Amino acid sequence: MSRLKSSTAPSDPQRRSVLRQGGLLLVAVGTAAMVPTQADAALLSKASVQYQDRPHGGQHCSDCAYFIPGTDAKANGSCRLVAGSIDPNGWCERFAS
Ligand code: SF4
Repeated sequence: MSRLKSSTAPSDPQRRSVLRQGGLLLVAVGTAAMVPTQADAALLSKASVQYQDRPHGGQHCSDCAYFIPGTDAKANGSCRLVAGSIDPNGWCERFAS
């Protein structure tokens, strides 16, 4: 019985340190997996911000601080606040210059 304990229980400091570091790594990986990505529900829905695919007055998404341009000036991009494809000529009530 005591032989089994000595073979499975960490007995020397180096071995304990390796096991402790492995445990910390597992916790870190598990925590990172739980952090939501931008594709998750962290972004607002278009409906909740009154998004429209046309300008509002002189304001449009391509001039907004939250706009992420697409492949060219006319292509849809994305938004740091609002989910989905965003028209550069669109607008929502979260517009920020
Ligand atoms: S916050 Fe609104 S106006 Fe600004 S880029 Fe996003 S959708 Fe367009």
